[in-house]
Amino acid sequence: MSVNDAEPPDGAALPGAAESPAALPGAAESPAALPGAAESPADVTPGAGSASVAPPSAEDVEFMREAIAEARRAEARGEVPVGCVIVLDGAIIGRGHNLRETSQDPTAHAEILALREAAAVLGSWRLERAVVYVTLEPCPMCAGALVHGRVARVVYGADDPKAGATTTLYAIGSDPRLNHRFVLSAGVLGAECGALLSDFFRAVRARRRQVRPSSIQGTDERPTSIEQTRVGSHPDSE
Ligand SMILES: [Zn+2]
Repeated sequence: MSVNDAEPPDGAALPGAAESPAALPGAAESPAALPGAAESPADVTPGAGSASVAPPSAEDVEFMREAIAEARRAEARGEVPVGCVIVLDGAIIGRGHNLRETSQDPTAHAEILALREAAAVLGSWRLERAVVYVTLEPCPMCAGALVHGRVARVVYGADDPKAGATTTLYAIGSDPRLNHRFVLSAGVLGAECGALLSDFFRAVRARRRQVRPSSIQGTDERPTSIEQTRVGSHPDSE
């Protein structure tokens, strides 16, 4: 929170610094628009909410696997499995996994925790060349924080039809009205990231059935599609 509290000067928006070369609305979807330049153009997926058309780069896969490892740490604590890593110049500078229940903190999403760690490591809230890997599409809070952090690029795994704020419901990160935009890649290891969530909720439902045997016909007990579990999966969605 203190990091975010330090951000209002950011909102004051330095006229020149606010815009990145990749900041044109349409350019966010263009493979040529990578400000970090470290990433392969092939891995940029237009924000259509679908899986990548082109295969992701080896680097994207590597770091998404790190984000998945973070998600598993959340799962091991009984938290909804969402994980995030933040990468600068090929090195991880921030990690986070959802800790909402453990912390009883509505802001303890993977991206927020990773942003705080990365900013502490750099000694700066400006994460201008950073690439963020997160297993689930960021929610409005996290997408907003990523804008405030000035990250260069966001790579996510599974879409979140209920709370997704970079592609699905909103386009925070490519909205020209905001003073910063980031390049977006969707669907990297998306099936694996989504399966983590659907498996988690399947186990939760199974435990509920054991606690409340039979007679449950409520809608929350129906077997759900992966999309439905994603809907229910996000820390914000409950
Ligand atoms: Zn979030």
